Amino acid sequence: MTRSLVSRIGRTRYGRAMPNPADSHSSSRPAASTEIVRRNMQRQKRRDTGCEMAVRRLLHAEGIRYRVDFKPLSDERFRADIGWKTRRIAVFIDGCFWHACPQHCTMPKRNTEWWEAKLRANSARDQRADAVLRSRGWAVLRFWEHEPPHEVAAAIRTHLMRRAS
Ligand SMILES: [Zn+2]
Repeated sequence: MTRSLVSRIGRTRYGRAMPNPADSHSSSRPAASTEIVRRNMQRQKRRDTGCEMAVRRLLHAEGIRYRVDFKPLSDERFRADIGWKTRRIAVFIDGCFWHACPQHCTMPKRNTEWWEAKLRANSARDQRADAVLRSRGWAVLRFWEHEPPHEVAAAIRTHLMRRAS
């Protein structure tokens, strides 16, 4: 089954075929690749079991259908985690490490400078994506993965109803 078909019918899909390019692409990685592997594994675990999956299940249980892991704008590379194209709502549920959550992001002790630059670039990319989307009339909802899923789902629902009317 293709990704788009799965997205269209809003079925819960466990895991992603591809890592989010906004998080992981890089041309110059540090030598300590074990750190990256470890982080990626932690992240993968969170992604499969964490906030985003819980939010999707909550929405789905209410009969709400949505796209997942999609490009809101065809001429921009960034992807939203959940959303609606016709209503122009993009939801991002940001991982605490990769998006530098002030509460939970701890900088790796090795290659600290590289990681700081990397995470700064990620944050800058997030801010730019928000600005571009808003300039084109999109509602941007950005959450941390540490937020309670039922609160995230409730906030999404509120925006969805507002945009539907
Ligand atoms: Zn956090």
